[in-house]
Amino acid sequence: MNIHPRVSKVLFTKEQLQKAAKKIAAKIDKDYKGKKPILIGLLKGCFPFFSDVFFNLKCEATLDFMTVSSYHGTESGKLNIVFNHKINIKNQHIIIVDDIIDTGKTMTKLVEVLKKEKPASIKVVCMLDKHLKNKNRQIQPDYYCFKIPNDYIIGYGFDYNDQYRNLPYVGILKKGK
Ligand code: 5GP
Repeated sequence: MNIHPRVSKVLFTKEQLQKAAKKIAAKIDKDYKGKKPILIGLLKGCFPFFSDVFFNLKCEATLDFMTVSSYHGTESGKLNIVFNHKINIKNQHIIIVDDIIDTGKTMTKLVEVLKKEKPASIKVVCMLDKHLKNKNRQIQPDYYCFKIPNDYIIGYGFDYNDQYRNLPYVGILKKGK
């Protein structure tokens, strides 16, 4: 495999990530038997993982997307909804799909905001979990592929200044230029 010069170490190959996403899809199918969940993906980073999960689902799932950012600097941790979902989620089973949970602040706020629209349930799925750094955070994912240490990662949807999302693996960004 060709490793990009900005990557110091490959953590997971595309094959490993796709295998893990398939397992998550199987768990979702089992947990949502007889239900029609709506998967809401958080752009931009979710897209490869989102499609890996979505195409492996056998249940009658539908999809939508949102773009959000949060201001971690402020005490309120206000959520900025750049692009909102379009589907009516009232009384629906919602699965939020994200690339990674770090501090969990974005996800905690987003769940609060979506709950106001009175869905039947909300669960969270993410590809990676920076759990070690955030053991005491408010929210934990209901489904995840892998836990990782606190390194800045790029590839397979993850960017650095909007670059490197198309690398076919998740790797640690090399420090410096
Ligand atoms: P949180 O609110 O959980 O701290 O932030 C989660 C968001 O931070 C993720 O959806 C992702 O966009 C971004 N993020 C956290 N860690 C990384 C990382 O290592 N690499 C990249 N590219 N984004 C990250």
